[in-house]
Amino acid sequence: MTATQTNWLEVENTLDSGVYNKHAVVMVRAEGARVWDSEGREYIDCVAGYGVANVGHSNPEVVRAVQEQAARLMVMPQTLPNDQRAEFLQELVSVLPQGLERVFLCNSGTEAMEAAKKFAITATGRYKFVSMKRGFSGRTLGALAFTWEPKYREPFGSAVDDAQVTFVTYGSVEELRAAVTEDIAAVILEPVQGEGGVRPADAEFLRAAREITREKGALLILDEIQTGFCRTGKMFAMEHADVVPDGVTLAKAMAGGVPIGAFVMSADVANKMPKGGHGTTFGGNPLAMAAGIAAIRFMKREKLWEQAAEKGAYFMQKLRAIESSKIREVRGQGLMIGVELKEKSAPYIAALEHDEAVLTLQATPLVVRFLPPLTISYEQIDRAVEAFARVLQSVNPREVAAGVVKEEKQTE
Ligand SMILES: *Cc1c(COP(=O)(O)O)cnc(C)c1O
Repeated sequence: MTATQTNWLEVENTLDSGVYNKHAVVMVRAEGARVWDSEGREYIDCVAGYGVANVGHSNPEVVRAVQEQAARLMVMPQTLPNDQRAEFLQELVSVLPQGLERVFLCNSGTEAMEAAKKFAITATGRYKFVSMKRGFSGRTLGALAFTWEPKYREPFGSAVDDAQVTFVTYGSVEELRAAVTEDIAAVILEPVQGEGGVRPADAEFLRAAREITREKGALLILDEIQTGFCRTGKMFAMEHADVVPDGVTLAKAMAGGVPIGAFVMSADVANKMPKGGHGTTFGGNPLAMAAGIAAIRFMKREKLWEQAAEKGAYFMQKLRAIESSKIREVRGQGLMIGVELKEKSAPYIAALEHDEAVLTLQATPLVVRFLPPLTISYEQIDRAVEAFARVLQSVNPREVAAGVVKEEKQTE
């Protein structure tokens, strides 16, 4: 390690809040599905900024849009209309199903969930929600209440509005039916649980959620923050089940790497929020809007959902062909893929990074998650799978238990 690299690492480890488990590398550049560290080592990236870089890192069309817009106009409040914002809104609504037609713009996934929560309350006059066991909806206090993982919520005690949220088993129509009473504002649901272990919902479950919420006057809000924008082999994962919710939360890949978020809803839901009932300074800023226009146009022109479907099927088929007694299950949708092991996944994720220069992501203690840019090449997929097969052979669980091999934990 060079002196400079050690220095950057030290600075981050000293000055950062300390909430992240930082790896011992310094990343400086990326292109497509490749990332380089400060030593010049090249990695295959199956993290994509937690599923952000769907159009590839530093996609040239997004880069050009950002450069041009940065020189023209970067910030303009939403009370002052802007050409880029208007165009972005049209692009976004054009790729969503009919009925999702009014947009609240913000800057991240958790903010999109916060917006969904407020709009659901004003639309229904109700304050209680149903969310899913193993669900992940973000980390700010309002969204955290929808996030199941107790270790994320418990440090904050009664500051998290736990009393207002009932968690049901993902996939259980009976539990959902029992939980959705006449005082529920909305059901919050990821069409494929990401952080919860890469678990696609049955189409039947999504359709039942649509029917049950409609019967009880509750909203159905789909969290497509990770599944949206071609990741699962459709523009949005809801298309697999042909379900149109009352609202959808979006973020991650929507602007090709620039921070952005949105809650898109029906006109009925939007019309119930009073003027001034919600707002944000950076939401809808022309820089993010220009990036978003470029990213969505790229997805449409390249039919990126088809690429995700085809490459995802290929990737999963190759993973399933690995002969290893350590694998319990390979599952996923499109290029949102999880391999559940029969033991902790962290040592394998660490070995993939250190020994093979392949970046992957944890999802629950047992799952190795692959979320590559959707522009990844077949050759890069082959290399990632071959690397995974090698680490499955080389990592010895007994050495891990004895502390010989270092474990790394990642969280989003
Ligand atoms: C990433 C994610 C969030 C939170 O988004 P942030 O931009 O990190 O706040 C919420 N829901 C799902 C499904 C996610 O994957």
